[in-house]
Amino acid sequence: MPSTRAQVKKTKTGERVDKNLMAYCGLYCGDCPSHKGNIADMARDLRKALRESRFDVFARAIPFKQFQHYPECYECLGAMVKMRCKRLCRGNGGPPNCKIRKCCLKRGYEGCWECDEFKDCEKLAWLTKIHKDAHIKNMRIIAKEGISALVASRRNW
Ligand code: SF4
Ligand code: SF4
Repeated sequence: MPSTRAQVKKTKTGERVDKNLMAYCGLYCGDCPSHKGNIADMARDLRKALRESRFDVFARAIPFKQFQHYPECYECLGAMVKMRCKRLCRGNGGPPNCKIRKCCLKRGYEGCWECDEFKDCEKLAWLTKIHKDAHIKNMRIIAKEGISALVASRRNW
């Protein structure tokens, strides 16, 4: 597995970019809400504020029809609190048995962009449910201009 030693730079807008955040599949861990943790933090804080204000009582008493779903809403926020991934793809973060990562490591590739099959690979297909063709677009850029160019640009997510 390649070194995860920091290769950190800043863009003109001050964004911290790191080549080690470049995942094997063409996505960039630094763009992932689970890695950033911003949604998890906000969901945690909102749940705390809701508890402190006893919003459950309020939701039962106020005749807004949407508040009928307050318990599910609170539960949903609880699931968002768990959306954290501290390890990077290159540090075995994400799905532990990811076939994409395993395949790249087996073939000695830095990422799928080094593979002739990346545009039609079945192993990448499940990513389209969430990312559509963002990873493919990123890999096209990497294949043409290199990882640094993608990392320093506005990446597709
Ligand atoms: S674990 Fe797999 S799907 Fe997740 S970022 Fe890494 S290569 Fe992509
Ligand atoms: S076959 Fe190629 S494109 Fe598919 S997962 Fe393996 S390295 Fe990536």
